[in-house]
Amino acid sequence: MVISIQLSERQERIIDIVKCNQPITSENIAKKLKLTRSTIRPDLAILTMSGILDARPKVGYFYTGKTTLSFISEKIREIKVADRKSVPIVVDEESSIYDAIVTMFLEDVGTIYVTSGGYLSGVVSRKDFLKNAIGGLDLYKTPVGVIMTRMPNIVVTTLGETVLEAANKLIDHEIDSLPVVEEVSIKEGEKAYKVIGRITKTTITRLFVDLGNNE
Ligand code: ADP
Repeated sequence: MVISIQLSERQERIIDIVKCNQPITSENIAKKLKLTRSTIRPDLAILTMSGILDARPKVGYFYTGKTTLSFISEKIREIKVADRKSVPIVVDEESSIYDAIVTMFLEDVGTIYVTSGGYLSGVVSRKDFLKNAIGGLDLYKTPVGVIMTRMPNIVVTTLGETVLEAANKLIDHEIDSLPVVEEVSIKEGEKAYKVIGRITKTTITRLFVDLGNNE
């Protein structure tokens, strides 16, 4: 859940007063506003509880430097891949390109994850299909493994990463989706990835809408 902090005009003025006069007592803040201390008590309570102001006994109020925006980014940083991942669409490396295209349409996704022996071996996207459609490959006979982007060049995310970290990877690598993986040891010193979810540009758009609607 995202906490929205909508400050009143008076609370904004209190912040400005504290910024310019810190440390300042509640009595002096009230004086500057030409109000009583009890009138501004609830405002001061909100501002200290939300962390914008810091109250030190016998000294007064300090401005912590936190803005409403820094609260929003703090909240965003708490959202984990585990909270937002969706179901991955996976085909085996031996599936034909034709079957993978049909899966892409039926599942209404833009990227398919490819596995070999149950572990992530590659990724195939719309552009990979288009590129190879021009190349004249036999779509019924050629396995999808021939055209996919292959491990170890796959950019992945994990349950414990933040959605912000995943979004940064999407931007940095100019890709539309990341498989959410769990690392497993298959043999001595040999690791592999199980595909347990996906994070896509749609995940990020939906999160943005939810945050904007305060859900
Ligand atoms: P589209 O083909 O719809 O533009 P992308 O931009 O995601 O989709 O794909 C561009 C290229 O990057 C494709 O060749 C695809 O195989 C590859 N790709 C997609 N996702 C990943 C990923 N997570 N890691 C590495 N390569 C990827």
